[in-house]
Amino acid sequence: MSFENILKKYFDRTCTEIEFVKKTYAALKELGFNDENSIAATCICRDEISQTLRSIIKHMWGEAFNLSSLAGMFFAGKTGLAAAMHHAPIENGKERYVFYALPHIAIDTEGHIGICRRSGREGESVACGALNAFQKEMASGRVNITMDNEDVEQSLIRMRLLREIPYGHVPDLLELTRITQTAIQADLENTIKKVVNIEKSDYAVITGIQIHEADGNYIWPAACYAIVNGEKISLKV
Ligand SMILES: [Zn+2]
Repeated sequence: MSFENILKKYFDRTCTEIEFVKKTYAALKELGFNDENSIAATCICRDEISQTLRSIIKHMWGEAFNLSSLAGMFFAGKTGLAAAMHHAPIENGKERYVFYALPHIAIDTEGHIGICRRSGREGESVACGALNAFQKEMASGRVNITMDNEDVEQSLIRMRLLREIPYGHVPDLLELTRITQTAIQADLENTIKKVVNIEKSDYAVITGIQIHEADGNYIWPAACYAIVNGEKISLKV
């Protein structure tokens, strides 16, 4: 199967991550955002194969505030978000923030979900490793839902995502990644509502799933919108 057909099998539409950042930049530019008057923030997994997206965002928007945790979860909270906002440029009394928030998943050349290769290592690897570990625990029938102070982010992933999963249901890695995307978006939006003053700030929420294919990284876009002068505007991506 070609890369394109493998992607189509699981995702209704995708673009390369370069196209994705370029399209979102262009759409936001029409709404008054640019690399000089806006600060970007990213919420993506710690995995090094995810960082290409941060590099592209840096190239388009300048250095981005880092809200990231394992699996791309939004655990930076009100304090993290407020810090990003306090670092934004102010132009004519207006601050502008652009939030990119995406979990990730690998698909190999045969269409196997979660499987990727890493340079310098023999055999198969997994992405997202944190979500895969949680999925394996659910499949085994034993999930530790206590806070392990030596494994804080993974404990938080379990606690947060179990709220979204019907009792007894074990999602596969793809379904779990989709659940993670909606949880990240919901947590980010909820915190934005509490922290961002739309009287003096415009912002954009850009979400989706980052997909690692053998020939590079792609994005399945989910909610992508801007709030400009308090009004919600969908971005064409
Ligand atoms: Zn990951």
